[in-house]
Amino acid sequence: MKTLFDKVWDSHVVAQEEDETLLYVDRCLIHEGSRHTFDTLHERGLKVAHPDKVFAFSDHYIPTDPQARARGVASIADADIRNMVELLIRNTDEYKIARFGWGDARQGILHVAGPELGISQPGIVLVGADSHTSTHGAFGNISFGIGASETTHVVATQTIWQRRPGTLRITIDGALGFGVTAKDIILAIIAKIGIGGAIGYAIEYAGSTIKRMSMNERMTICNMSIEAGGKAGLIAPDDTTYEFLAGRAFAPKGKAWDEALQYWRTLPSDPDARFTKEVALDAAHVVPMVTWGTNPEQALPITDRVPDPAQEPDAERRTEYNKALSYMGLQPGMALTDIAVDRIFIGSCTNSRIDDIRAAAAVAKLGRAVVPAWVVPGSESVKRQAEAEGLDRIFAEAGFEWRDAGCSLCTALNGDQLKPGERCGSTSNRNFQGRQGPGGRTHLMSPAMAAAAALRGHLVDVREFGARK
Ligand code: SF4
Repeated sequence: MKTLFDKVWDSHVVAQEEDETLLYVDRCLIHEGSRHTFDTLHERGLKVAHPDKVFAFSDHYIPTDPQARARGVASIADADIRNMVELLIRNTDEYKIARFGWGDARQGILHVAGPELGISQPGIVLVGADSHTSTHGAFGNISFGIGASETTHVVATQTIWQRRPGTLRITIDGALGFGVTAKDIILAIIAKIGIGGAIGYAIEYAGSTIKRMSMNERMTICNMSIEAGGKAGLIAPDDTTYEFLAGRAFAPKGKAWDEALQYWRTLPSDPDARFTKEVALDAAHVVPMVTWGTNPEQALPITDRVPDPAQEPDAERRTEYNKALSYMGLQPGMALTDIAVDRIFIGSCTNSRIDDIRAAAAVAKLGRAVVPAWVVPGSESVKRQAEAEGLDRIFAEAGFEWRDAGCSLCTALNGDQLKPGERCGSTSNRNFQGRQGPGGRTHLMSPAMAAAAALRGHLVDVREFGARK
C-alpha cells in the first residue's frame, strides 16, 4: 500500500547512500536567475547531460510594460537587468536548451507556461530553479525547487541527491462558499498549520474539494506548499488532469499517450496507504482571506481584525506580531477592511492563469479602480486568451493596467517594485519584508479580492459585490 509520493519516488531511485537518495530527474526548469549554473558549467568544462530535458523561461527579469517589450531587449535601461535577460539567451543557445523567451508566443512564468506546454506530467520528478516549483505537483508528480549548485548537478548529471521526506495528507472536503477560491483555501491551510507546519513533508492534497477543482485551481494550491515549509505538493492525477494535458506540445501523443495514461492511472495513493501525518480542513468554513503580517501564516478572514499582540499568550509569537505590525504600519484591533491600499497587483505564478484573470475581470467590471492596479498575465498564452474574451477591455474601462507576461511585482527583480512604505493588495505568494521592493507592504489575497480592493481603495470582502449585483 503506497502513497502517490512513494510510487513516484521509488520509481526514480538511482542509488542510496545512508539516508541520501540519488533520484533520476525527468525535467528541469530554469530562468534568467540560473546564470550561476552556466558560470559553473563553463568554469568546470561540464556539458548539459540532456538538453532536451531542460526548459528555460524568461520571466523573472523580463519587463512587463508592453511598450518596453516592443522596443526589444537592448532597450532595457538597467544594465544588470538587461545582462540577465541576455545571458539566458546566450547560455541556452550555447547549450542548445529550449528557451521560451522574449518575443516567443509561448513565453511566460515557468510555473504557468511550463504546464501550458505539457511539460508537467504525472509520475515524473521535476525540479526548478525557483521555490514555487511545487506548483507542478498539481499534475501528480514530485516537483520541488532547487538552488544554483543543485541545478548545476541536475543539468550535468540528470540526477539529484535528496533526503526522503515524510508524507502529509491534507484532506479538504466540502463546497466552497460564495466568493471563496483556491487561494483562500491555501491561505487558510497555512494559517492553520503554520509556515513550519509541513517542514520535512511532501504534502498530498486530497478530498472532495480538491477533486472538484480545475487544474488552474490545483496549481494555486500546490504553488503555496512551500509557504508552509513543504518539500513538495501533490494532487492525484485524474480525468481533470488528463483532459488538461491532452494535445499539449510536450505531452505524449498517439500510442505513447495511451501507454502513459495506463501508467498514470496507477499513481493515485492506494486506499489503505499510510501517511506520516494527516490534517483535515472543512472548506465550508473558509471565507475570503487576507494576510495582515509579513509571512503567509499571518492570514485571517477578511471579516476579522488585526490581532493584538498583547492578547497573544506565547512570548515568541507576541514578538513576531509586534515586529510584523510595526513593519506593516498597522494598529492592533483595527478592522481588516479599514486597511487602505496604495496599489494592486494581480499576477504571479499563484494567480495569473485565465481563471484568475476572469475572476478579477468579473469584479473589475462593477466599478472603477481608485488606486493604480496592474493585471499581469502569467503567460502570453493567457494574455491572448483573455484578449480574445475581451477581458483586457474590461480592465481598461475600469482603469486597470493590462501588461505583458512575467513575474513582475511578485518579486520586483525586473524593476517593477513598490516604493518604501507603499501598501499593495497582491495575488502573489509571499508577503515577506521587502519582497515587492524595499520597505513595500504586501497583503496577499485572491484575484477577486484584489480587484475589489482596487475599486474601493481598501481591503474589502468581495462577497459584498456579489450581494449588490
Ligand atoms: S511569479 Fe514570483 S514566485 Fe512565481 S516564479 Fe516568478 S518570482 Fe517566483
